[in-house]
Amino acid sequence: MNHTDAPARNRTHDPSGARLSVVERVIFGRRRLLWTGIVVVSLPLLVLVVLQYRWLADLQHSSTIARRANLESALKAISNETFFYYNAVADEVLNLPPAAYTEETIEQAAHFFASRDLTGVRRAFIVTYQPIPRLFHYDPGTRAMVEDLDPTPDARAVWVAAAPWSTLHKTLGPVMRTGFFVNEHDLSRRIILNPITDESDLLIAITGLIIDQDYFVDSVLPRAVSQALPKFDDPGALWVCVHDGRGRRVFPSRPCSDVEPDRVQRSFDFVFTDWTLSLQGRLAVPERWARANFAVNLTLSTTLAVILLGGIAFTVRTALREMRLSTMKNEFVSNVSHELRTPLASIRVFGELMRHGKVADPAKVAEYGEHIETESRRLSQLINNILDFSRIESGEKLYVFEPTDLERLVGGAVEAQRIRLRDRGLELEVVGPDRPLPLLELDANAIDRAIANLLDNAVKYSPKGGRIVVRLTSDGRAVSVAVADQGIGIPDDELERIFDRFHRVSTGGVHDVKGAGLGLALVRHIVAAHGGRVSVESELGRGSTFTIELPVDRRPDRSERRRHGQDPDR
Ligand code: ADP
Repeated sequence: MNHTDAPARNRTHDPSGARLSVVERVIFGRRRLLWTGIVVVSLPLLVLVVLQYRWLADLQHSSTIARRANLESALKAISNETFFYYNAVADEVLNLPPAAYTEETIEQAAHFFASRDLTGVRRAFIVTYQPIPRLFHYDPGTRAMVEDLDPTPDARAVWVAAAPWSTLHKTLGPVMRTGFFVNEHDLSRRIILNPITDESDLLIAITGLIIDQDYFVDSVLPRAVSQALPKFDDPGALWVCVHDGRGRRVFPSRPCSDVEPDRVQRSFDFVFTDWTLSLQGRLAVPERWARANFAVNLTLSTTLAVILLGGIAFTVRTALREMRLSTMKNEFVSNVSHELRTPLASIRVFGELMRHGKVADPAKVAEYGEHIETESRRLSQLINNILDFSRIESGEKLYVFEPTDLERLVGGAVEAQRIRLRDRGLELEVVGPDRPLPLLELDANAIDRAIANLLDNAVKYSPKGGRIVVRLTSDGRAVSVAVADQGIGIPDDELERIFDRFHRVSTGGVHDVKGAGLGLALVRHIVAAHGGRVSVESELGRGSTFTIELPVDRRPDRSERRRHGQDPDR
């Protein structure tokens, strides 16, 4: 098994791997609680999203109907506006005084028409039936009534329109007056008629007008459209098209696509009844408009739900991390207290024995002295680790790089472990490099601490009688220090995490070995500050090898702070 950045394959299985530590049990319990919380929050959210979806689908349906009704009423308003306009014109122009209807007084009609506003009227005319049917039209140039004796197209159109009334006149049939009548027999001469009757409802004359079609297209229609249509910021969103009876576009000047069946459309009610009004543009088809709204609303709701879930997940992740850290810190405090108490107790006992003169044998005195020295060394290593760790955490850790003889430094670190090695019956071999190592730019104290931590672990996690090998190698570009032991090994899934602060493998033999979980975190930080890396290979039950690789030509980091003699524990 090998690990630098990712865990490697585990060759053996740890039967005790299922045992959970206190930390893990606490975290597991809280984690279950948190996940229950997440489910409790997420489920209503999910129900909300589903309900929202169904509600939006319903809304899409009903808003399609409402929208269609809305747009239809807009078109109806245009048609109404046209009706009101021509009804008003007919009211103004066609209600002549009764005296104007006889041949003798026809000139009175000329005065009447001259006093009227004939805008939108191409021709105003009168058909009198006394004593015979005759047609007169008003000539605005001479301001007089002119009889239409020739069958001009206008005269023909009027006679055709008046034909049913002429028949009624002939047969003395009564005329029921209900308002104005429109005749659109000739599509280029739309005529509004006003039959005039006497007290016995018998027809005596017809007044009428021929609509000025150009005026309708250029003035009446645009006015009606602009009044009836809802206003949009985007002019391309909705507009009105008018096609004549032959399907030719008459309004507006911009292009209109073919009239689609699901598009809102209708015809005029009073005049121009063969013309079709239709709505065009992005918002013209209610189904498409409702679909677009549905999509926007659904996207919004889903995005909100996703953001909410993301927020919950992030909060849970942070909470879990904090929980884990706080539990680890608690365990760290208890581990450190134990770590401090054990060597202190030994030092006190050996000190007392020597003070009371209970050891006379110089060999024993030397042995006890050695113990005191080793224990104090362990104590100072622990305290240094804690101090270093706190400096790293607060970003205060400083490194001082100087040309250093790494081989000598490793020799010193090994020497410092000698008594512990002897006590635990461990054998340690240092294998030197094939060729002499160059002087390296190192912070000697920091690297010494890193190697001491690796050696300390090798001793701690090896059974009595094991063997430790420290190997120095160089490939010209980097120098490696490998510390190999035949100890308890590390499970595969832990290989990455053992470099995290406070992290301790909680299964197997580690259970019985006390530690603060800081050593490897420090090693990693120190080595990284030297531009190197630390890796581990391990096999459960057979041993582990930790390797520090340091580049030979380390270029000082620009942001690196170099301060000499300011590290207090140097
Ligand atoms: P600790 O003070 O717990 O030794 P470290 O950071 O030095 O803290 O190590 C973290 C964990 O890595 C240890 O708790 C142990 O589980 C594992 N470990 C480190 N070195 C070895 C080794 N040589 N053999 C087995 N396990 C090791």
